[in-house]
Amino acid sequence: MDIDQDTTETVLLPAHRTALRAESLPPHLPVAAIRLHREVRRRMHELELAADHGRDPWLARELRRATAGLRELLAGHLPLHGTRCPLCRTRWGRAAPWPCHVWRTTHDLLDT
Ligand SMILES: [Zn+2]
Repeated sequence: MDIDQDTTETVLLPAHRTALRAESLPPHLPVAAIRLHREVRRRMHELELAADHGRDPWLARELRRATAGLRELLAGHLPLHGTRCPLCRTRWGRAAPWPCHVWRTTHDLLDT
C-alpha cells in the first residue's frame, strides 16, 4: 500500500498521550531508568525541532510522522502505575521490568 494513502487513525488513548512526560513516570523507578527516559525524550524533542526548522517540507513531514509513530510505540511500553512494561513479557509470562527492550533499543538507535 502507498503510505500516502494510509488513512490509519492513531489509536493512542488520551491517558497515554501524556505518558512520555517526565511527571508521568511512576515513582520508585531506578535512576538509570529515569535517565534513559529523559535521554530518549530529549532526542525525540531534538528531532521534532529539526522537523519544525527543516528547509525540506517533505523531509520535515516524514520526520514528524516517524517521531509521532515512535512516540506512540514508546507510550504503549511505558508503565503508568507500576515499574514494569504493560506489554512486554519475560519468558515466564511475567511483565518485563522497565525499561523494556523497546525503550532500550530506541535509546541505543537514537544514540542518546
Ligand atoms: Zn515493552
